[in-house]
Amino acid sequence: MGLSKDTHIGPYLVVDFKKTVQEEEIRYCKTHPKLKQGSAKFCSECGGEIIVEVLKKEEKDGIFDILEGTEFEDDFMDSKYLADEICIPNKSCYYLGDEVEEIDCQTIEKELSEFLVENRECLEFIKTKVNSVAVKYGCFYIYG
Ligand SMILES: [Zn+2]
Repeated sequence: MGLSKDTHIGPYLVVDFKKTVQEEEIRYCKTHPKLKQGSAKFCSECGGEIIVEVLKKEEKDGIFDILEGTEFEDDFMDSKYLADEICIPNKSCYYLGDEVEEIDCQTIEKELSEFLVENRECLEFIKTKVNSVAVKYGCFYIYG
């Protein structure tokens, strides 16, 4: 298992995703509940009537659902092992090396404003698809 651990230092998003309701149709025979029934009205084994139930599943969007197929597809990824709400930019990730790097208020301000300019269109797009999105600056592990 090649599990690598990197440190992200920099801007990230906290997104409140919308929920969608998915419907799934379940078809079965009372006598043979384990038998797969196609779209037939009657059981292929006993001829009994097929029962149809619709299951409703509430699903939350993720960043990939929103950006898939758009020009912004590769701009952000989810953080995998953190909360789904945390989205990381694919570029402008900073990795800790062996050297000490000072981060002061100016560094953070500069990086945040660059981030907002670079991702302005993508952020505008995300805003139209989610309940809310906030841009934050922070530090956390990313597992690859
Ligand atoms: Zn049956």
